[in-house]
Amino acid sequence: MGTPKAQNDTHFLVGHGYDLHRLEFHAPGGPARPLVLGGVKFPHNRGPVAHSDGDALYHAVTDAILGALGQPDIGQLFPDTDPRHEAQDSAVFVGEAVKRMKDLGWRVGNMDATVILETAKVGPVKSQMRANLARLLEVPESRVNVKGKTHEGVDAVGEGRAVEVHAVVVLVRG
Ligand code: MG
Repeated sequence: MGTPKAQNDTHFLVGHGYDLHRLEFHAPGGPARPLVLGGVKFPHNRGPVAHSDGDALYHAVTDAILGALGQPDIGQLFPDTDPRHEAQDSAVFVGEAVKRMKDLGWRVGNMDATVILETAKVGPVKSQMRANLARLLEVPESRVNVKGKTHEGVDAVGEGRAVEVHAVVVLVRG
């Protein structure tokens, strides 16, 4: 597919993505799934309440790309009422956003994300998250960054009851 004329008037596009998932204690038959962020499983006594695998980092990155392209967001493309996405590996959502991006004649310039999580450390698995994202976004790892923050004990995120992710992406001509 060629690049639509309307998208020929700029050299780059910026997209922002945000996601939050409630974290619940694991219990037999409970709502929580294993905590997965950027495709990396965290040993944790809580997990996200989600229809898919609840990977808030992949969801934020997906929405950042779709947002830059002016496309429908992740909730519109993959509604949580669709049984096909039950426990879905969220790498599929990133892949669909990347496919749409390439079809429209763009590629990722860089992506920067902040994961806000109180009770597990992002630092030790950051390089694995970057590697996973670089592979999915088809860029070198140097073009992908993930930062971990806490919420300083404040509010639901600070009390460990949710995980929050912000992501910003720049798309350049493919
Ligand atoms: Mg989500």
